[in-house]
Amino acid sequence: MTKAFFDHISTTPLDPRVFEAMRPYFLEWYGNPSSHIHDQGQAALRAVDHARAEVAALIGAKAGEILFTSGATESNNLAVLGAAEGAGAGKRHVVVSEVEHFSVMNALTPLRNAGYEVTLLPVDGNGVVDPDAVRKALRDDTALLSVMHANSEIGTIEPVGPIGRIAKEAGVTFHVDATASAGHIPMDVREIPADLVTLSAHNFYGPKGAGALYLREGTKVAPRTFGGFQEMGYRAGTENVPAIVGMGAAAILAGREMGAWAEHLSRLGEILWDGLAAIPMLHYTGHPSERLPGHVSFWVEHVEGESLLLFLNMKEVMAASGSACSSNLRGRDEEDLVASPVLRAIGVPSDICTGSITFSLGKGNTVDEVRLALDALPGIVERLRAMSPTYLDYQKRQAKGG
Ligand code: PMP
Repeated sequence: MTKAFFDHISTTPLDPRVFEAMRPYFLEWYGNPSSHIHDQGQAALRAVDHARAEVAALIGAKAGEILFTSGATESNNLAVLGAAEGAGAGKRHVVVSEVEHFSVMNALTPLRNAGYEVTLLPVDGNGVVDPDAVRKALRDDTALLSVMHANSEIGTIEPVGPIGRIAKEAGVTFHVDATASAGHIPMDVREIPADLVTLSAHNFYGPKGAGALYLREGTKVAPRTFGGFQEMGYRAGTENVPAIVGMGAAAILAGREMGAWAEHLSRLGEILWDGLAAIPMLHYTGHPSERLPGHVSFWVEHVEGESLLLFLNMKEVMAASGSACSSNLRGRDEEDLVASPVLRAIGVPSDICTGSITFSLGKGNTVDEVRLALDALPGIVERLRAMSPTYLDYQKRQAKGG
């Protein structure tokens, strides 16, 4: 039976070519790159250096500007905390958009506790940060600006080029979380004046356990892990060599093939958008055109997002509710689902919206799989709406004439 995986924003399947590139570094070349006095260590060191150049090429960087981490969360933590500390005394202000991932947002807590002031940049109804708002928010004491490249929940691509130029003029370090976009849409640090860029291998058909932080030459970042001198002293600890090799291999493939992937995904996405138009009371989220290819997000009035996903899963269709992490968020005192901060930021009404849905398509998806989802959705929506208490209230109010 077909199983349709439409949750590539949470993770992508490993490309078999990437797996083949990694295999020797599990079994044959198991050396530690720091112990390169012998052949084993040298092979590992060479492999890590190759991967560094390959990842750098994906974003137009120099190899020496890429440092490997365990993934996007660690890269974001290092960028936010490291750049705030690295900016030095007197710079105690940080600016981030309201729609950043938790690995940026929650890294602000220790900064606030240490006396930093945080400015949150609002977004419009499509989830876009206004560059003028950035200009107004930056100050002489601003240590860091962080705005993501693309939002995983609503797919919107942020204007990081214009925003970066404003940061550059103001002399503020600019961090871009490119976890959801890297390997899917072009990102070149020779054009986008970002000082720090977060990348994650498992989001572009590479393995889990490897991420990278691009660090433009001259950017000041204080380390967050302490130990040996790995990763130019920014990130101590023995490197995850097979995963790093996999990240390099995935970066090469993405660099070569992302145009073709995007074309395929956009075509499938169109079929999905067109089919969804038949469902009443459905609202799309995110920007209508400035969005990730194959990313389709929406909510349906009075239809509980998580229930919809459970029913879809029974039909072998796998999608996500907002960002994968936010589905773990529940009210502290009651069992109510807490509205996603991204949905709140774009002004989705919480009384009739009880969860959004994100379909994130991947290069392996087919038209038949999209049709499977479209065949299943209308019946599930109808069934869930019929049992929704908010819909019953709404119908009663309608019957009373208001
Ligand atoms: N940033 C963004 C935009 C994300 O969507 C995610 C989650 N995939 C992360 C950071 C964190 O990624 P990870 O959980 O792989 O560390």
